[in-house]
Amino acid sequence: MSDRVSKTNKFLSSFVSLVTLFLLTTACNQADTKRSVSVEQSPQAQEAASTPKAESKKIKVVATFLPMYWFTQAVAGDAADVAILVPPGTEVHEYQATPENVKAIATANLLVKNGLGLEEFLEPTVKNAQNPKLTQIDASKGIQTVKEISPVVEAGNKEEHDHEHGEGNPHVWLDPVLAKQQVINIRDGLIAVDPANKGTYEANAAAYVKQLEDLNNQYQQTLQKNPNCTFITFHDAYPYLAKRYNLKQVAVVEIPEDQLTPTDVQKAVNAVKKYNVKALFGEPGIDNKLLTSLSKDLNLTLYELDSLETGSTDPQHYFQAMKNNLQTLETACK
Ligand SMILES: [Zn+2]
Repeated sequence: MSDRVSKTNKFLSSFVSLVTLFLLTTACNQADTKRSVSVEQSPQAQEAASTPKAESKKIKVVATFLPMYWFTQAVAGDAADVAILVPPGTEVHEYQATPENVKAIATANLLVKNGLGLEEFLEPTVKNAQNPKLTQIDASKGIQTVKEISPVVEAGNKEEHDHEHGEGNPHVWLDPVLAKQQVINIRDGLIAVDPANKGTYEANAAAYVKQLEDLNNQYQQTLQKNPNCTFITFHDAYPYLAKRYNLKQVAVVEIPEDQLTPTDVQKAVNAVKKYNVKALFGEPGIDNKLLTSLSKDLNLTLYELDSLETGSTDPQHYFQAMKNNLQTLETACK
């Protein structure tokens, strides 16, 4: 009895296997048939296959760091391929170039940099890339730089920001009016290398410039309510913004890695007394324990101001981050 059951089961199971096998085979054949039909008949598929050829005609542009990438991508739109050298979230000031950076520059038509000594890694990297057809755009060309730096309260070692003492402060992108000049420089560079897309570059640049002008108006209207707002910062990034909107970046406290000495704190306290400081500006994404303790010692509120060296790669992120900064400034300067 049990023997028969087992035989029947064996038979059934082989039958099921056969049926399964048959169904699988049929399904595969159908899929194959469908696939070959779609390859032969779809004109879209043929177009898709030839797209890489069309794309390779686009000029290749490399931008050094985030603000240069935003501005270049905004002007280029779909007309050029734009890549970024310094990954967002990586310090541009102390950046070390990678072999991928050299490769990207070696095959690029155009390189967009902020200039003013910000991209210290760039010169040797461009040399290594040995690309005779490379054109470089200095986005800060024609911009009047701030040479004198804010009084620096030297707390701890000051190796980190030595780039600012050479060709003037490089943080011009934080002033929407100067950012507009950078966008125009980038537009003209793109047109010079790729005149076929002149109309696209002009239209895209005009749209972005319009947004920058609106942003400038917003800043003017909001900040004129509280003129001469004084602040202390930890990154000498805001002299252009301050100059444009009558704010006063009165001191830059250079924060050491480990801890503040009583002398450092005393120096900062003296600056606060001397300048009647309203606010203390740290930066988002930085561990602010030292700054928090300093702000307590100084009896000042610590706010976050974004120098726009990190964030999303969407060109619209510039406006979002600048509007956040405006809100912070408005609150801090009241
Ligand atoms: Zn900086």
